[in-house]
Amino acid sequence: MDRPETHVLLIEDNPGDADLVRLRLVESQPQVRVDCVPRLSDALESLGKETPSLVLLDLNLPDSRGAETFRKIMEKAPNVPVVILSGQDDEALAVKAVHLGVQDYLVKGDISSKQLERAMRYAVERQALLRSLEIASKQQLEFKNQFLSHVSHELRTPLTCIHQYVTLLVDGLAGPVAPEQSDHLRTVLKSVNQLHAMIRDLLEATRAESGTLRVEPRCVSIGELMQQAVAMMRPTAQGRQIGLEIGLDSRIPLVYADPDRILEVLINLTDNGIKFTPADGSVMVQACMTEADANSVYVSVTDTGRGIGREAQSLIFERLYQDPDSVDSNRSGLGLGLFICKELIRLHGGRIWVTSEPGEGSIFTFTLPLYSLAKLLAPVVVYEGRLRAAFVLVRVELAPLTNPPRGNWRETWQQCLEILRRCVYLDKDLVLPPMWASGSTETFYVLASTDMERAGIMTTRMREQLERIVELKNKGTLTITTAPVELESVDPSQSLEKQVEAVAGRVNEMIMKSMDKQKKPGNGVKHSS
Ligand code: ADP
Repeated sequence: MDRPETHVLLIEDNPGDADLVRLRLVESQPQVRVDCVPRLSDALESLGKETPSLVLLDLNLPDSRGAETFRKIMEKAPNVPVVILSGQDDEALAVKAVHLGVQDYLVKGDISSKQLERAMRYAVERQALLRSLEIASKQQLEFKNQFLSHVSHELRTPLTCIHQYVTLLVDGLAGPVAPEQSDHLRTVLKSVNQLHAMIRDLLEATRAESGTLRVEPRCVSIGELMQQAVAMMRPTAQGRQIGLEIGLDSRIPLVYADPDRILEVLINLTDNGIKFTPADGSVMVQACMTEADANSVYVSVTDTGRGIGREAQSLIFERLYQDPDSVDSNRSGLGLGLFICKELIRLHGGRIWVTSEPGEGSIFTFTLPLYSLAKLLAPVVVYEGRLRAAFVLVRVELAPLTNPPRGNWRETWQQCLEILRRCVYLDKDLVLPPMWASGSTETFYVLASTDMERAGIMTTRMREQLERIVELKNKGTLTITTAPVELESVDPSQSLEKQVEAVAGRVNEMIMKSMDKQKKPGNGVKHSS
């Protein structure tokens, strides 16, 4: 049977060296096709068109030198084995390349056909082996993730059923329950809730591992999220006689984050703080800004609890890690909470860390990026190096008729948002990222680079299109208002950057004011006690 043809891409700019290598190749393998290119750019182009069996690579080319050369080749063709052709003087670099994933190296001028043949054969075999190992471990991980995800989903249904029926019994809806029986049923409910939380953590961790964990950032008041988290955790803290406080500088600007996910992180950290702090201790949730990093908000959860040893501090954010000393009969959780927190904060572009001393309590801190209206606005409010003449802020409020809303309200408002985006001129208007408020009313803001008269035409178009959404008509009300952005505070003698910041500041004030108005009781924004 004919042996398959070996296709070698030889990347070598010295014609003498190229001829010699080509000769050795033909001597060693009769079934070889050699394409020779002198420059890295030619090689990358060739790799884009055809995948060779092997690359023979000179590190120093006219358009690339040293480590950069093999990095770019491996980036372009990660599954093709690469053998370096090094000179006597760059052998050290060739060795480094082997550590970084190149299969082998040969020193030029010293290459026999036998050596070349052997190096090529081993390189191809090693690369194939590595590839199959990689595929096997990926398949294993995928299988494990699928299994965990499937089992977790399946467990949720019977658990929900148990929860519903036990609740029914506890509430006395199936007949009178003696106080002792009621206590037992409450213990069952507690365990069911713990199991629910564990299953949720398993699903989240599986998603994090397979890269399918998602965040949907919005413009969020971190203070409101902290208040919500504290309000939700207060009964647990009171039950364990632990003080739970909030420390918030009211001047903290809005952050760009997914409110549901950040609430999850805050609850997790607060819950841990309470769990690992003895009675009469305290947990404090705080947010602040620092001079050193003006683009982030720092949120911390401080407890006066047992603290964490130095060694454990470097491990607690790992998947499934639980400090063996902290395991007691009251423990619930799988050691996934902090791993999920770390992944969620990473997806927001932030960092999370702990500072702690055993016996002295712990401080868990994470950062979130500030919401920068000026950065978002700059491309639409500036034209030909100058600020545009007039701006109008359009406010679109979608309020559900019932609370909680009927049907899939989220889908309805997302559809509305899409329509708003289609109603504006992309180069001079901007639909701002949705603002978050903890009620069901959704409010969107559009900054239009126009005067009030033209804004009227725009809002008529918006109204016409939004009113065609049947779901909105049946389940909610639509209110559209416009207000001019006063530009008195914008000083034209200042730099353009400062002028854009002034416009952003003004728009921000207008939004804050309108959000404050929206925070009437019964309008959804909850305050903790
Ligand atoms: P779990 O959900 O099992 O608590 P986590 O990932 O949230 O898992 O926490 C991992 C480990 O980190 C815990 O087992 C505990 O040892 C340690 N830990 C977390 N938070 C604190 C804290 N505030 N004080 C002391 N130890 C903590």
